[in-house]
Amino acid sequence: MRIIADRLRCVGAGQCSLVLPEIFDSDDEGLVVVIGEVTEADADGLRHAVRICPVGALSLRPDSSPAPGTPQAAGR
Ligand code: SF4
Repeated sequence: MRIIADRLRCVGAGQCSLVLPEIFDSDDEGLVVVIGEVTEADADGLRHAVRICPVGALSLRPDSSPAPGTPQAAGR
């Protein structure tokens, strides 16, 4: 799984870094930075962080999903 942090949406509330300080930190502007490797062992904490982010800036994706903004091949 991967955690996606939308820094354009983040308001620096810091809830995520309280839940998982080994994965989330904030930069000099107070916006979220993903600093740690995400493992399956973190799944429950990550889901909690996604739920409590007040602006919905965090999302979980399976490892196999493309990164946001990745062009997709057209289907036939
Ligand atoms: S909880 Fe959401 S708004 Fe707060 S720092 Fe984390 S990503 Fe940003």
